[in-house]
Amino acid sequence: MNCKLCGFDKPLVDAHVIPRSFHRIDPNGDGPPRLVTNEKGRHTQKVRKGVYDSTILCVECEHRFSEWDDYGDDLFLKGWDQFEKMTDGTCHFGYHLPAYDYPKLKLFILSVLWRASVSSHVMFSKIDLGGRETVLKQSILQADPGSVDQFGVLLQAFDSNEIGILNPHLERFDGIRYCRLYLGHVIAFIKVDSRPLGETFRHLALTPYTPLRIAIKNFGTSPERAIMQKLVIADKERSRTSR
Ligand SMILES: [Zn+2]
Repeated sequence: MNCKLCGFDKPLVDAHVIPRSFHRIDPNGDGPPRLVTNEKGRHTQKVRKGVYDSTILCVECEHRFSEWDDYGDDLFLKGWDQFEKMTDGTCHFGYHLPAYDYPKLKLFILSVLWRASVSSHVMFSKIDLGGRETVLKQSILQADPGSVDQFGVLLQAFDSNEIGILNPHLERFDGIRYCRLYLGHVIAFIKVDSRPLGETFRHLALTPYTPLRIAIKNFGTSPERAIMQKLVIADKERSRTSR
């Protein structure tokens, strides 16, 4: 089968679209983690190895992503404590890191988006980038994070780590298309539209040589929590009645 990145006919590997560490697989946990999907007609699935796709990458191409995946893991999972809380004295409104590696972080996020866009796994069925997929692939092959207007990225983070694995999807803000991608407790909004970022979002997007700022999102009152609760309850009900 042909690798979707290099294009050569080579044996393909079980490639994770979202790195395995973001699935929070606990070797001592009780049972495999569950993929909570809001796809119609689907329900939660056990995903022992995490969500992977064996139709996209050869081993050499998968290795291209290692350095960026490790950086995402170091920053958002292992190193989350190093973020400073942004407050106005009473209200906590975000997270701040004075310095970070812009190319590595942006390429981590763009490479997850590209993997999702070429994956045939049902979890990523809503991520169709059309002609933008080729442009994104070139950025990855050249390890070019691009400017703020090329696949610009904005970040938000839940104030909780108890997040399931949610489907990414496309949506519009001010008429511009974005992909919403869940990376554990971090949500990345990536502009997948060829038009430039709107003024509302430009000052919040990742930019080289500036501190990293991440807006906070309350998990307790979020629609994501309500969706996950509903699906988990429905799944429990289904397994109870099918016994
Ligand atoms: Zn390849």
